[in-house]
Amino acid sequence: MRNSECGMKKTAILYITENGLKLAVRLRSVFPDAEIVRYDPGLVPSLWADHAALVFIMASGIVVRTIAPMLKDKRTDPAVVVLDEAGRFAVSLVSGHLGGANDLARKFAGFLGGEAVITTASDVNHLPSIDLWAREHDLEIEEWELLPQIGTRLVNNGALRVYEEQGAGGRGQGSEIELPDEFLRVAGPRFADVIISNRKNAYGETSACTVAGDDCSIDTCRVKGQLYLRPGNLVVGIGCNSGTSQDELEDAVRSTLDSHNLAFLSVGRIATIDIKGSEPGLRAFARKYSLPLHVFRNDELNRVEGIEKSDAVFKATGAHAVAEPAALLAAGTDRLLVPKQKKGNVTVAVALIAVRSTECGVRSEGEKKLQQKGKIYIVGTGPGSLEHITPAARDAIKRSDVIVGYGTYLDLIKELLTDKEVVSTGMTQEVDRCRKAISIAREGKTVAIISGGDPGVYAMAGLVFEVLKSAESEEQHHGAELETPNSELRTLNYPSVEVIPGISALNASASRLGAPLMHDFACISLSDRLTPWDVIEKRLEAAASADFVIVLYNPRSKGRAGHINRAREIILKHRKPTTAVGIVKGAMRTHETIIVTDLERMQVTDVDMQTTVLIGNSKTFVWNNLMITPRGYERKLKI
Ligand code: SAH
Repeated sequence: MRNSECGMKKTAILYITENGLKLAVRLRSVFPDAEIVRYDPGLVPSLWADHAALVFIMASGIVVRTIAPMLKDKRTDPAVVVLDEAGRFAVSLVSGHLGGANDLARKFAGFLGGEAVITTASDVNHLPSIDLWAREHDLEIEEWELLPQIGTRLVNNGALRVYEEQGAGGRGQGSEIELPDEFLRVAGPRFADVIISNRKNAYGETSACTVAGDDCSIDTCRVKGQLYLRPGNLVVGIGCNSGTSQDELEDAVRSTLDSHNLAFLSVGRIATIDIKGSEPGLRAFARKYSLPLHVFRNDELNRVEGIEKSDAVFKATGAHAVAEPAALLAAGTDRLLVPKQKKGNVTVAVALIAVRSTECGVRSEGEKKLQQKGKIYIVGTGPGSLEHITPAARDAIKRSDVIVGYGTYLDLIKELLTDKEVVSTGMTQEVDRCRKAISIAREGKTVAIISGGDPGVYAMAGLVFEVLKSAESEEQHHGAELETPNSELRTLNYPSVEVIPGISALNASASRLGAPLMHDFACISLSDRLTPWDVIEKRLEAAASADFVIVLYNPRSKGRAGHINRAREIILKHRKPTTAVGIVKGAMRTHETIIVTDLERMQVTDVDMQTTVLIGNSKTFVWNNLMITPRGYERKLKI
């Protein structure tokens, strides 16, 4: 029932002509996992069944005729994009929103310098798409048939009225889902186009009309065709006898929810005792609706207080009760929405989730809110030149409102920064840079923090997480003093973070030198700004004695030659003076220099802070002024 985006998405690119094949190969550089398939109409049904996206490089007529018999539903059909073989147009044909064909077409067009052909009305009018918006907020659409008319209302009126029941989203009082500008929040369900509620009928029991008075027949006094969006914030705790069938379980759950005016589509998880976790009926029920099944041991269930105890249940399971405590534990709350209901072989209880998480198991409700609250990309821009920035890094920069970074790195990518707000700081002001980025993101903006090379290698990624973590614990401490009941809510304002990798100096330098990193290597920074020098010496000693190839970053820390000299001395204790050394300055930048030498002859004057130094292991050899570390293929080569 609930969407899970955890699964891998497969893409197939189908071609007919040689030019089509060439284009497919180019596209694969942006989608390295995509399969390239020669078009054969007989193959398409199986690709259709197990791929998330099909990209056809051929005439759209062929595509339409081929896929016509397979088209079923926009919720399940794969994205279909059609490209002409010159790559001038990328047409989003089917499953534009939920399937992602619109995004895919835009991505291809961006990469190929062509044009994306998008025909969905909301995109054309720059309006939000309801189905995508619902999915982003983990809201289930109840009546898909209503979507076209709701979409038409949005396009025609330029706005939709949305009613979100207070606390219905498990977000706590006063905390609401953020709405796009075109969605207007209304105070009651009656005049809403869209109703966000876990109650089956958001009007509840009372049907008295607040506008026209009690005589009003409610059906005529409300917007026709209201779309319900269901937050997955209900947990159903279930106890059952062995061998209870899936149908009986489903009936018990449905009838309990029905009689308490709760929506089945709002069930986000089910919960039980561990010994029932393998009940076939229960497992089949969970599988049928893609509901995560949370199980608890009897001692965990028995720790829940204020539950009515049953001797019979205790005898059978060792737990005093199952449905109620399981629901409470899985919901992270101490209040039941529906106390235990006995229905034949099944007992059912319902609780409201205090903190929601997705099936991926990591995103809490708090974290989801974070995504609406701003985003931080920590972007690695590679060693220097623009062609060594990954398409993903370019994309993240493009999507960001504000770019934060150190001057030199920003200069290297200045072509990508036109129209961006740029916050530049000095080299040693990393903490300040991080705090700035986080506070900008907390205003709801998308921020890219730029690091040269890879952002997780002696760069900004770790620091961003450290700053976020310490800010969180400070606020939690503060919150505890204020007796704020729900720790998740206190963290709502944190932006989400995505790390975009880059080509690190060691990759860039190694590629210029030949293949020095073919075997185990150790990477050591000679900067003692944050690491005590005696620790650095210890690591040099260990790496040298273990015959690792050694990569030295920051080899002229504070500009002093002492560090690289000392490193050389330590390594010389364990390696021959003839050991190969590569010195790469400004790899992939305009004034790049590459020196291949050895430990004895290396000149420290060739080393500066833009340099990476690679020291070979005992097997590394120099050939044609290239530095190569053998991997052990020698014997095979001789045969
Ligand atoms: N995050 C960066 C490393 C930052 S530490 C990365 O992944 O590459 C800075 C050090 O990286 C420099 O002192 C130098 O040793 C190395 N470095 C960065 N860019 C380089 C380049 N283009 N050529 C050679 N070394 C480089």
